[in-house]
Amino acid sequence: MEASSMYDVIIAGGGPGGSTAASFLGQAGVRVLVLEKAQFPRDKTCGDAISGKSMGVLRKLGLVDEVRNAPNARIEGVIFSAPNGKTVNIPFPARPDHSAPGFCCRRLVYDNILFQNAKKHAEVLEKHSVNDVIVENGFVVGVKATDLATNQQKEFRAKVVIGADGSQSIVATKMGRLDTPEKHHCTALRLYYKNVKDVTANIELHFVDSVLPGYFWIFPLENGLCNVGIGMVTSDMKKNKVNLRQVTLDAIAKHPMFKARFEGAEAVGPIQGWTLPFGSHHRKPYGNGFLLVGDAASLIDPFTGEGIGNAMTSGLIASQVITEALKKGDVSEATLKQYDDKLWNEIGPELNTSYKLQKVGRITPLLNFVVGKAASSPKVRDTISGMLGNEEAKKEFTGPLFYLKLLLS
Ligand SMILES: Cc1cc2nc3c(=O)[nH]c(=O)nc-3n(C[C@H](O)[C@H](O)[C@H](O)COP(=O)(O)OP(=O)(O)OC[C@H]3O[C@@H](n4cnc5c(N)ncnc54)[C@H](O)[C@@H]3O)c2cc1C
Repeated sequence: MEASSMYDVIIAGGGPGGSTAASFLGQAGVRVLVLEKAQFPRDKTCGDAISGKSMGVLRKLGLVDEVRNAPNARIEGVIFSAPNGKTVNIPFPARPDHSAPGFCCRRLVYDNILFQNAKKHAEVLEKHSVNDVIVENGFVVGVKATDLATNQQKEFRAKVVIGADGSQSIVATKMGRLDTPEKHHCTALRLYYKNVKDVTANIELHFVDSVLPGYFWIFPLENGLCNVGIGMVTSDMKKNKVNLRQVTLDAIAKHPMFKARFEGAEAVGPIQGWTLPFGSHHRKPYGNGFLLVGDAASLIDPFTGEGIGNAMTSGLIASQVITEALKKGDVSEATLKQYDDKLWNEIGPELNTSYKLQKVGRITPLLNFVVGKAASSPKVRDTISGMLGNEEAKKEFTGPLFYLKLLLS
């Protein structure tokens, strides 16, 4: 066992959460080590949709232009289809500077930009897999990791450890925090396809009967490539004995809305599956000498499945709280609790709205009704478009008044 020198902060995992935290901590003069089990650039199973919230953190990191100039697809709106097959196209509200309202970028590309930026501000060891935390006198004081190149076991010590190691987080597991129940958890599959017909500059969310309250998605990428997938709440999937792989392949090959579009299209690479811990379950993401960020903290939006923005936001807030805690020389649970308070103040209300929307999405007649109304009325489409870009307004979707107004419109 090889022991190494002392750091201020060790970050397990260099995905969007870990890389964001590393960049901001390094910029604040904190001595950081990132231990990442993969070698970048690496793929991550995902829909590749980058939200407005991610853009906000990218702006603070000074990486917007780099991401904009990388291979991606500009997204202008969203196409919804209801279980009865009715379809509506809702444009995203235009941005004052005419920049893309949204975009999709493969994680192989996007995560690498964040990771390379982290390397400018922190020490980084790739192919190092964290397998345990070191706890002394009730405080996390470091981690144990395997150097995958040599198979050597190593110990690394720091004042604070951040678990940014994704949905199967070792740090969360060892600290007894991998506790998201299956009703707050999604299982999803993704494939890349070339030459799907009628793809536009819109992401597509199709509420097909077989996976409600989840959806089948088609997201455009660069050069005729698409990201295609299906996600479903894990407890529903198990209760209804859904074979997600079969349902995905059936949607592509047999569903009346997609069959013709996929004729002649070509799968690029295999089907990949992964798990999404939702933020509708509030995991305790802190303790003596440690914090959890991103999927390790169970922060994914329970309606849309988006998690990159919350991973980056939590990485930013973690960096601010840790920088202050290190200045005070106090990394106790009582001090690090500020991270949880600030984080939930920022993302809690939106997660709450999304959980309610997920419940609305279980009611097939309601989905049919809303999509039908929007498809037939430009005024309703405009209203929904405005609501998509406004958190306060989005809450209206979860109350009966919105549906009553639609009924009367
Ligand atoms: C099928 C699917 C579709 C999705 N679609 C979208 C979408 O379109 N938009 C969106 O915003 N979100 C989407 N998400 C969610 C999104 O992928 C996650 O929320 C996001 O990746 C979380 O970032 P993270 O940094 O917390 O974790 P990750 O991105 O998982 O990064 C964790 C990093 O830690 C490393 N690591 C893991 N274990 C160890 C270890 N033991 N030691 C060292 N390193 C380790 C990994 O190699 C990885 O680099 C989707 C998820 C799935 C599964």
